[in-house]
Amino acid sequence: MSLSQFRLDGKTALITGANRGIGLAIAELFLKAGAHCMLTSRSETSALNALLDSNSQKARWISADVTDVQAPDKIVAETLNAFGALDILVNNAGIADNGDFHNFSDSQLDSILATNFTAPFRIAREAIKPMLSRGSGAIVNMGSISGFVANKPQLQVAYNSSKAAIHQMTTTMAFEYASRGIRVNALAPGYIISDMTAGGIENAEWNKIWTENTPMQRFGKPSEMANCALFLASDAASYVNGATLVADGGYLTH
Ligand code: NDP
Repeated sequence: MSLSQFRLDGKTALITGANRGIGLAIAELFLKAGAHCMLTSRSETSALNALLDSNSQKARWISADVTDVQAPDKIVAETLNAFGALDILVNNAGIADNGDFHNFSDSQLDSILATNFTAPFRIAREAIKPMLSRGSGAIVNMGSISGFVANKPQLQVAYNSSKAAIHQMTTTMAFEYASRGIRVNALAPGYIISDMTAGGIENAEWNKIWTENTPMQRFGKPSEMANCALFLASDAASYVNGATLVADGGYLTH
């Protein structure tokens, strides 16, 4: 046993949605753990650019809208061109949208499913090909506690369903590829401080409900999700396959 199992030296990771929030924290930690990282998002941020500047040999960024049908090919090819390998995929990019089920529009539904389910499916489908050629790899899909329960007070059937689909995609992919050296796991965060939750955290009523329903009585930090993603992506999780790791301050305990 060695702590080096938690490191990613010599590995290349592709991380979607890496310009802010949870994805940026994962990128920061994976780089510290020794990985080469291909980062993607639609837009750049100052934090992303600072990370790229301080890791100029080990990190690259490519602009991509994950809902673009060409994006999976493009980002996987760019990763292989830049680093010669693809060992780890973190399927993190995602969006949320709320609204009554009976009033939720087709365009809202299409947008949620395209970003939160179809895109991760297509990206994993492309990223797994070089992993299959090498006979090894690790995929971490970003799920959510919303894949298990109905959130309150916000109404978000489409988001919740998209995350439940991610959990099931994870289970089924893990079953299909276990014998070929590829582990597939999901991470299911609770309420984490990011742009996605900023509106709810600023809303006194929502903040109170979210906090009271979290036994640890606080929101999670993106860095705490990065720790979980690193474990799942690393050799330390060598016997963890098909799992959805819940990291929610105890939200799902009641
Ligand atoms: P943020 O809103 O902070 O970040 C979302 C990221 O996804 C950004 O990098 C954004 O980049 C990217 N993204 C969104 N749409 C697209 C697109 N069409 N193409 C490319 N990139 C896209 O959210 P979080 O960091 O909080 O969320 C990250 C993941 O964690 C999501 O899958 C979310 O569902 C999940 N999650 C978050 C929780 C939370 O409490 N925050 C709880 C449970 C799960 P850009 O806009 O520049 O394209």
